[in-house]
Amino acid sequence: MSAGGPCGGPVPGDGPVTVLYDKVALIGLGLIAGSMSLAMRRAGLAGSITGYARSAETRAVAVEIGLVDHVCDTAAEAAKDADLVVLCVPVGAMEAMARDIAPVLKPGCTVSDVGSVKRAVIAAVGPHIPEGVHFIPAHPLAGTEHSGPRSGFAELFDNRWCILVPDGADRAATDRLRALWEGMGSFVEEMDADHHDLVLAVTSHTPHLIAYTMVGVADDLQRVTDSEVIKFSAAGFRDFTRIAASDPTMWRDVFLTNKDATLEILGRFTEELFALQRAIRTGDGDHLHAYFTRTRAVRRGIIDAGQDTAAPNFGRTPVPKG
Ligand code: NAP
Repeated sequence: MSAGGPCGGPVPGDGPVTVLYDKVALIGLGLIAGSMSLAMRRAGLAGSITGYARSAETRAVAVEIGLVDHVCDTAAEAAKDADLVVLCVPVGAMEAMARDIAPVLKPGCTVSDVGSVKRAVIAAVGPHIPEGVHFIPAHPLAGTEHSGPRSGFAELFDNRWCILVPDGADRAATDRLRALWEGMGSFVEEMDADHHDLVLAVTSHTPHLIAYTMVGVADDLQRVTDSEVIKFSAAGFRDFTRIAASDPTMWRDVFLTNKDATLEILGRFTEELFALQRAIRTGDGDHLHAYFTRTRAVRRGIIDAGQDTAAPNFGRTPVPKG
């Protein structure tokens, strides 16, 4: 099935075009795959882009909006002859996809993924990768609370980090994948899988769990406050609801597969929460003030590092480049 759509090749004036992979296959066509396709096209990084999604509905949308050049009905069909195959499905679905594509993988090609957890993906996918195929896991630290084929945008990865977990993979293949992510606008760092999972448990996974919990508590309370929680929803709570609107399947899989690191950080979080609870009960204002002063400095550090601005919702809506 071919997709004739509005999305064209590289943006004129964006610099010289270097095709890094003649054929790229995206397995899964949601937010991340869609954004990859648009970002690759923007910079002319792929000769052609083929996609697979499990539902006919997603495949039809991908064709309708021209998200990729070709849409296939099976993952194996999409991965056949590809120079780069990227698994863009929830972490819990990676193994089945790897099993499906394994028989058709071209010798010398690269298989990567974008999963939010790395150790579990390596354990699930690694055993299916044939000899002579490079397996280089990756995780773009970029996203929104939206999902599905219509949610992607070319600027999603601009000035965001992408972590590669080569784990001894071929240097030239790793450098090529690095160049792809840089070409899509990212900064790239290489990391060990366990370290990645711990860092992400702190910066992403546990905060999501806390947001889910806070919104759940507010929802319970809502029943006794006659909908006032929604009506008078203030900025702090609204930010939590945005995070807690993230895809349930993706986040279920994140917690099931990054169990140890998340429980470790959650344990520390609970200890801190008890300390703040005691400070409130005992009226220890100095403790509260010192704590909030320290956390405020963290926010300033993130802004100084260029990973956010003081403006609300930075990076969460498509911003035209230019
Ligand atoms: P998404 O928008 O929900 O898209 C997921 C895609 O995977 C869809 O095409 C879906 O197919 C397919 N899929 C879902 N379950 C499947 C299964 N059991 N078997 C085969 N295909 C399945 O998700 P996304 O946000 O792009 O996330 C994709 C990956 O990127 C996840 O591993 C996630 O951890 C990672 N990631 C996400 C973010 C983020 O903020 N969203 C950031 C970084 C990394 P249908 O449409 O046909 O259902």
